Amino acid sequence: MLELKEVSVIYDPHTRFKKEALIGANLKIYEGERVAIIGRIGSGKSTLIEVISGLLKPTSGEVIIDNINITKEKIKRSDIVKKVSVVFQHPEMQFFAETVFEEIAYGARNIGIEEGKIKDAVLMALNDVGLDETYLEKSPFELSGGEKRRVAIASVIVMNPKYLILDEPTSNLDFGGKSSVISYLQERVARGRTLIFVTHDMDEAFMLSKRIIVINEGHIVFDGETERFFDDAELVERIGLEPPFFVKIKKTLSKCFPDFPSCEDYDSVVQYLLRKRSEYNG
Ligand code: ADP
Ligand code: MG
Repeated sequence: MLELKEVSVIYDPHTRFKKEALIGANLKIYEGERVAIIGRIGSGKSTLIEVISGLLKPTSGEVIIDNINITKEKIKRSDIVKKVSVVFQHPEMQFFAETVFEEIAYGARNIGIEEGKIKDAVLMALNDVGLDETYLEKSPFELSGGEKRRVAIASVIVMNPKYLILDEPTSNLDFGGKSSVISYLQERVARGRTLIFVTHDMDEAFMLSKRIIVINEGHIVFDGETERFFDDAELVERIGLEPPFFVKIKKTLSKCFPDFPSCEDYDSVVQYLLRKRSEYNG
């Protein structure tokens, strides 16, 4: 479990640029959860994940990772990384290797996987993001946007972290790239892992998360089930967010058709629409 107790982060505390980026955050994230962190630009999302992942020491409060209080106990960075790894925003900007293999192998070596087992680990990570061995010798720089992002995700999951944290995993990708990243995250990457991601894309939050944490001006203002969050139109609006496409379409359909059932997913909405269409067309 990842736990925050009364965590606050103040940047440049003793200057006139003082900024309270996170204020008294309390949080428990259990193994296997899928959590989306949403909020406006500058609300403190990146600060929150830097604290959760042990990268940033909070100004006050405690961060506890699997019962180890990392704010109190001395613990090596490399030991934290094995448990909690982060895919930063625009991760491909940090590519350095000449081949996809070397790019991904770096993380594996970093956590001490022995040389003889590196290739298998790299292939497994590559496979999880839907790329095959023909990519190993390619230059990471010549891939498409979506492929680059998937290689960047592979270079982190090769360390097999229990908790995987992603900051805006689909930002700046075109529609195809975005869909592929979402579907591999959903199908393979998240399997057996705890997934925590920041997004401003409500469709992504809706599709990938079971729990949503909303942060506003450094305060956690909502923490609960994804479905419940999007059912509360007033809250979504108050926070200044656009509801996901799926939620909007459900709302419109239930206004138009009195017999519209409460559909749980895209598939059942599509099934309903197809049924209606054949009714109308006799
Ligand atoms: P978000 O990821 O939601 O856009 P951040 O966590 O990056 O928000 O930032 C929260 C607030 O803290 C913003 O006002 C930002 O300008 C400020 N901030 C972020 N990082 C730093 C830093 N290293 N030094 C000073 N202020 C920062
Ligand atoms: Mg950010």
